[in-house]
Amino acid sequence: MLPKPQIVNLPVYQPGKPIEEVKRELGLDEVIKLASNENPYGCSPRVRAAIEHELSQISLYPDGSAAELTAALADHLGVSREQIIFGCGSDEIIALIARAFLLPGDETIMADQTFSVYKSNADIEGAVSIEVPLKNGAHDLETMLSHVSTRTKIIWICNPNNPTGTIVSKSELISFLDRVPGQALVVLDEAYAEFVTDASYQEGIALLDKYPNLVVLKTFSKIYGLASLRIGYGVGQIGVIKLINQVREPFNTTRIAQAAAKAALADQEFVNDCRTKNSRGIDYLFSQFQRLNLAYFPAHGNFIMVDVKRPAVEMFQSLLTLGIIVRAGFSKYPNYIRVSVGTDEQNQKFITALEQVLGE
Ligand SMILES: *Cc1c(COP(=O)(O)O)cnc(C)c1O
Repeated sequence: MLPKPQIVNLPVYQPGKPIEEVKRELGLDEVIKLASNENPYGCSPRVRAAIEHELSQISLYPDGSAAELTAALADHLGVSREQIIFGCGSDEIIALIARAFLLPGDETIMADQTFSVYKSNADIEGAVSIEVPLKNGAHDLETMLSHVSTRTKIIWICNPNNPTGTIVSKSELISFLDRVPGQALVVLDEAYAEFVTDASYQEGIALLDKYPNLVVLKTFSKIYGLASLRIGYGVGQIGVIKLINQVREPFNTTRIAQAAAKAALADQEFVNDCRTKNSRGIDYLFSQFQRLNLAYFPAHGNFIMVDVKRPAVEMFQSLLTLGIIVRAGFSKYPNYIRVSVGTDEQNQKFITALEQVLGE
């Protein structure tokens, strides 16, 4: 067998540990997962009815173009239907963009500590990734720009950034987009945009008319609480979206996911409520970290990176034995854990456990 040489040593993605596995391994009854930035409030109650209604149709292929959902989303976003593409999570859109644009040897630029899926897909295509160090946990757009050349095909900006939670401001973003040459695609991953309350934040969709080389990624997995159903989307100018559509598999999103996403989209009250609760959770966790003298990055999504002043993998293990799953193993930040913002009760239990481990 002769696989593509660039994939031979690729790591298999390590997801947050599943709750069931931790319960089984450690014999725990209660386990709180704050590891994958899932919505602790579930999803809109309207989703259940939409899924139940769809159950009578499951022997039929889905609408590959997701026409109904596309129409609803186009309306919601104020863009045209041809500007939207759906994927099996926005993860798939990332893969499709890499597949559509990257040739072996092409260059692609990203932060050195960001969502790992950009680099793994660039690797699969044989592209060269230029990883630019974060500055105080935030994208260093000026240095990223300095690496742009005629070989640059894609620049990835995760805003808010996973795992640090930092944002690039409107002025930084616009100044950057103004200077990126038109032949380089800028992918703005806004998986957590709906959580942001900071006034300096600019969502990319409003900029699409001005920048034809911009694609914005969003998902139903985070604030909408549909992570298990795997549905996300990309928005860009018609020509770019058409190219990405050309490499999409015909039936890449399911009937159930499409129906659920449409119902979830119609319930913006749920979204607003989650944003408010998340923002209260962030305030609570920040205040607790201050009390415990722990440094953290200014978080704008539904997760926080905090310096636990010891190897994060050890902290991960200690918290695990207390029934709390967080995320560790960020190569550039060996003493930081990433914790998702949970419900008030989950957040309090996390802080109690953290304090216990820190005192040991
Ligand atoms: C969670 C996440 C996604 C995508 O999730 P899907 O479930 O595949 O839609 C994309 N980007 C970032 C930065 C994320 O954290």
